[in-house]
Amino acid sequence: MKSKIIFGPAGRPINYKGPAYKAPEYIANERLSAYEYQSGRGLKISEKSSNILKEESNRHDVLTSIHAPYFINLSSNNEKTINNSVDILFKSAQVGEWMGAYRIVFHPGYHLKKRKDETLNIAKSTINKVLEMIGQSKIKNFTFSPETTGKKSQLGDLNEIIAICKEFDNFEPTIDIAHLYARDNGLIQSKEEYNKIFSTLENELNIKRLHCHFTRIEHDKFGEKRHHTLNEVNYGPSPKYFLESLIECDFKGTVICESPLLDLDALVLKELYESLL
Ligand SMILES: [Zn+2]
Repeated sequence: MKSKIIFGPAGRPINYKGPAYKAPEYIANERLSAYEYQSGRGLKISEKSSNILKEESNRHDVLTSIHAPYFINLSSNNEKTINNSVDILFKSAQVGEWMGAYRIVFHPGYHLKKRKDETLNIAKSTINKVLEMIGQSKIKNFTFSPETTGKKSQLGDLNEIIAICKEFDNFEPTIDIAHLYARDNGLIQSKEEYNKIFSTLENELNIKRLHCHFTRIEHDKFGEKRHHTLNEVNYGPSPKYFLESLIECDFKGTVICESPLLDLDALVLKELYESLL
């Protein structure tokens, strides 16, 4: 049986040499149970390879998600960008279904110089266009998962992600802890602050499994700068308080490790988690 909180890498494991779509066996052999397939730079995987990834994930009991391309911007004031983003998100749903991804993770967009609520409304109307396209297609199984983003200029603070997920069916949040930490100037320091984040999520949404990203992160006044490994303790956030709070809040969770050491640090997180039970 799967444990309540499962861990895995954001992308191909560090020392794994094979194709990314065959990684689940390697991941399972490391005793990890999650895998986020990376399409940040474009959806290049074929239907055939996606199907192999689905089979491999099922065979080795690895829960797979997909990270959609970074260049999605649902709140642009440029029609071409909007149409392009609709197209990419639709295609991500298609690829996600082929690979049996339980979440399609994406960064919703940018604030530009608009008022925040206006940005959110543009994003929502763009999402409606994507859902319309899906409704007219053969795609049946998809769960979009907008992610809390790391820069203040990006749409995607905790409340905005909650607002988007509340508005639509088939939407569940991705809570990137490092991004929340970076866009909040590193103020998330104590267990109480994590408790606040998780209880807000519990109160506002009906989450079956909480999908999280974790890494240590460097930031400046604009937010995220770069990711750091778990043993670079000069950078936050603290994995211990995050995991303690996650355990106390009783969520089923998936923690995708985005540190430069990916699967190796996912194992560090898993060991820490097991020591806290
Ligand atoms: Zn992301």
